[in-house]
Amino acid sequence: MAIIKKNIWFIFYVLLFIATVLFFILCYGTWNNSYTKYQTSQENIVELIANTTHSLFNTYERLSDILGKALLENNLHNIHIHVEPLLNNPEMVALGITNPEGDFIYATSDKDPTNIPNLLKLPETHDSFVQALSSEGMVFGRTYFSPPLQKWGMPIRKTIRKTIRNKAGEPQFVITTVLKHTSTFDALFNTLKHRHHLNLSIIRDRDLYYQYHSNGQQDYEKVYSTPFPSQTMEKLFTSIFDIYSLTPKELKENELLVSFLYEQEEEGYYLASLKYNHTYHLWTLSQTPLPVIIKDFMQKTVIYLLIFLSIGSIFFYLFRIIARAEEERRNELLEQATHDQLTFLPNRYYLNQYIHQWIYKEALPFSIIYVDMDHFKTVNDSFGHHYGDYVLVQIAKRLNAIMPEGSLAIRYGGDEFVLIVSLIHRNELLAFASKLIDTLSEPYLINQLHFNLGASVGIACYPEHGHNLDMLLRASDIAMYESKKIKNSAHIFVSEMQEGFLKNVTIEQELRKAINNNELFMVYQPQINDEGYFYGAEALIRWNSPSLGNVPPNHFIPLAEASGLMPKIGRLIIEMVCEDINEIHHKLQRPFHVSINISVRQFMDPRFLEHMLNVFEKTQAQYLHITLEVTENLFIEDLQYILPLLHKIRAMGIEISMDDFGTGYSSLSMLRQLPINELKIDKSFVDAIAYDITSAKMVQNIITIGKNLNMHVLAEGVETKEQKEILSTFGCDRFQGYYFSKPLLKEDLLHFLQSQTFTCKD
Ligand code: C2E
Ligand code: CA
Ligand code: CA
Repeated sequence: MAIIKKNIWFIFYVLLFIATVLFFILCYGTWNNSYTKYQTSQENIVELIANTTHSLFNTYERLSDILGKALLENNLHNIHIHVEPLLNNPEMVALGITNPEGDFIYATSDKDPTNIPNLLKLPETHDSFVQALSSEGMVFGRTYFSPPLQKWGMPIRKTIRKTIRNKAGEPQFVITTVLKHTSTFDALFNTLKHRHHLNLSIIRDRDLYYQYHSNGQQDYEKVYSTPFPSQTMEKLFTSIFDIYSLTPKELKENELLVSFLYEQEEEGYYLASLKYNHTYHLWTLSQTPLPVIIKDFMQKTVIYLLIFLSIGSIFFYLFRIIARAEEERRNELLEQATHDQLTFLPNRYYLNQYIHQWIYKEALPFSIIYVDMDHFKTVNDSFGHHYGDYVLVQIAKRLNAIMPEGSLAIRYGGDEFVLIVSLIHRNELLAFASKLIDTLSEPYLINQLHFNLGASVGIACYPEHGHNLDMLLRASDIAMYESKKIKNSAHIFVSEMQEGFLKNVTIEQELRKAINNNELFMVYQPQINDEGYFYGAEALIRWNSPSLGNVPPNHFIPLAEASGLMPKIGRLIIEMVCEDINEIHHKLQRPFHVSINISVRQFMDPRFLEHMLNVFEKTQAQYLHITLEVTENLFIEDLQYILPLLHKIRAMGIEISMDDFGTGYSSLSMLRQLPINELKIDKSFVDAIAYDITSAKMVQNIITIGKNLNMHVLAEGVETKEQKEILSTFGCDRFQGYYFSKPLLKEDLLHFLQSQTFTCKD
């Protein structure tokens, strides 16, 4: 079935085979038909001729008898009175009467019968005359030409004897009647003239001379002066014996009509029909050359052949049309399967299928460039897939525009592209990569808004970094991963990356297990207000892995972000924090502030808010005392999506803190639009505040900005009294750091709180 589906030609060949078989069956039938037709008609003719001539000869034998009787009675007086009525017979040429010695006594052809040569003396008549004298019946003389009559005739001789006491006595005369060839046999034969292919002979058995030959009309002399070849006769008998198992004797005795094929030397095959006349010892033989039958057969089959060929050709063309359509459809499907329908770039399947064009024995070196778009997901999340698709098409166009000759751009998946280029030198590759990044980072216009995306690029070289596609893709992916850390950058693979990568892969795998195995837990670092009282705590995640030990959050959080695990972990964090604060609230009976770090990926997850509200509902948490810490990086993402979400969150009574403020880029004008309650000065500024004037100035500025915008300003990483005091003088109103407390386990925090006074602004 699969073969049939695969190849329509298979059906065609099966049909062709069946049709050919049928055609040959038809031809065979037709051949049989033609052959039988010729055989039957020939047999009918032989039968007809044999019967007709038999009765003709019989008639003349009787006439001779009657004439003989008359002659005996009248003793040769007035012969012509008896003969003349006979001469009216159209078949008769002449009649002669001889004495037993061969001398003519009477002849219709000559008034003076003594002029006619003695029949015993002529070599051609001697034989039959002697035969006639000794025979009771009629004897045939050799067919001859009569010059006075200018006619060919067949002499038949009958010896007339006196009957003495009912016994035949001595011969008295011999009556020779000459039958006219033209009127007798030719006329008979001419009625069958449409059978011109057929030749008919009457041959006497005695010496195989022709009595009659239908073709003899052309060359009488030759035909009637030579006997039918005895070897040929032998051949006929052999063929008959082979087919019918009949001996010549049986054939003669039973006067059987037989038909058979035989080969005549130098003349080819004949279909012959043969019958013996026992009374007159004559063979009636008819022959049709086989080519005649073949010709008849061919004439019929040529029509069949033409029909067969024309139907065959029609079918062939039909099948060809179907096959071509099929082929086109298959190519289309292949094209569809190997190309991305959105960007029309070749896809991953194409790459797998055709990589052998680049990787083979003695192939030239080339490079694989792995491109992963940064922030692409945001386009999809905030504008919808329609715009995402639009951007992808733009990316493909830009790629096509800058691809070097002979290179290939492939859409490998979502926002990942793989380029195969013939560049191999480091400088060339990095130059191309930077051009690539620049091109792809140019703003994309969506809804009349300019949207910025970045591209992280990883490069692997063949054969240096891998002998097969898998190895090359992995190497370029690892290099790309390195670039992701910095964003909008390119790296060429080096083997050290692999180690880091493998380590990260293990961490990532372990992290997946950690989520379900309760290896993750929260610690809380107290936050102190300007009056020196505890007012809240920052929730920080910890991971104690049985196999990897303590993995710091700034190591595994980025991995969770990159691998898509973050929304899940983020949800778990909120859950754990809610449960913990519920417990502490319950135990202390006091409101309690907690800040939760929300990573960019977690925040950008379309179901973030829904998830968070679910957790609040599930844990019945007092979320009015919750602050979400977001970083400046969040605002690189799409503000149109972020702002309404932040407002929504604020409207619910949840506060927002901007973490690590000062390390990233955020413009003052933007800051003004943001519904932010608190700025967190990054630890790096706090660290340097005591000895570096620039840092101190920076911190001072941040505090001023925060105050101007009516925000709280929190300094984190405060480790010394000096730092705390400088910050206080600058106007900072919140503090967090080892100077006050390290992050504490839930139980330790409870002890800490119980020993401390703390304030809480509701
Ligand atoms: P972060 O949000 O800036 O958190 C403050 C980090 O500074 C914490 O490190 C904290 O332990 C540390 N720290 C606080 N005071 C001092 C001090 O006086 N001296 C020193 N040397 N360090 C101090 P941690 O807990 O290792 O967290 C590192 C980063 O991991 C965090 O930076 C945050 O970006 C991420 N992170 C931690 N927990 C979570 C979490 O629950 N969710 C998310 N999304 N990120 C988290
Ligand atoms: Ca934080
Ligand atoms: Ca921070």
